[in-house]
Amino acid sequence: MRAMKKLVVGNWKMHGSRASNAELIKGLLAADLAATAPKADVAVCPPFVFLADVAEALKGSAIAWGSQDVSVQAQGAYTGEVSGPMVREFGAKYAIVGHSERRSYHLESDQLVADKAKAALAHGLTPIVCVGETLAEREAGQTEAVVARQMKAVIDTLGAQLVQVVVAYEPVWAIGTGKTASPEQAQAVHAFLRAQLKAALPEAAKVPLLYGGSVKPDNAAELFAQADIDGGLIGGAALKAADFAAIARAA
Ligand code: PEP
Repeated sequence: MRAMKKLVVGNWKMHGSRASNAELIKGLLAADLAATAPKADVAVCPPFVFLADVAEALKGSAIAWGSQDVSVQAQGAYTGEVSGPMVREFGAKYAIVGHSERRSYHLESDQLVADKAKAALAHGLTPIVCVGETLAEREAGQTEAVVARQMKAVIDTLGAQLVQVVVAYEPVWAIGTGKTASPEQAQAVHAFLRAQLKAALPEAAKVPLLYGGSVKPDNAAELFAQADIDGGLIGGAALKAADFAAIARAA
């Protein structure tokens, strides 16, 4: 049985300051999402340096938090990296791994992303594993092959732990571009991923599948109404409390 609640996660990317984050969180708390969006579990993923502030501000609220990445390593001489235990120490629940911006700007491979998902789980974090095709790949008819390849690395690496992940389908051409996949396009890929997960491990059919890519208050309800869309990973619209709250309420 899949969870009845949708999961709505804000990816703040490399935006914000202590002051602007405080304002954003004030707006989110004022939105009283526990009461006004009871069908959504909500989380935000700030840059690492703001995790302590965000943890402090959201403690005791209905909003969880996570990191935007996590190291494969737990500790050691890995300059610039931040590990799962460090993120956990700040009460994080989630770690996004394999965002397309990490795959493209930091050359993260499918296997590295899978290893990061495993590391997150090893340290008590739920990985939100991002997969998605570029526009060129979609136009070449390779969407399914690309997401299947990205997913397979995770399936092969996690084994029975596959049931513990969250997957986010984020078509690269829809991220930050204002171009949203149509509900039908998104649903088709979600159904494909659901089938792949189920074939790998029957219990993995219940893995939450989020859609990400220019989700806004005016398109969220239609996307969330699709049979295999279990929530959203929200970029730009997560930076405005009113928009993010409206998306959570669309769940
Ligand atoms: C993202 O970066 O995860 C994302 C979905 O961004 P946006 O909502 O801005 O397209």
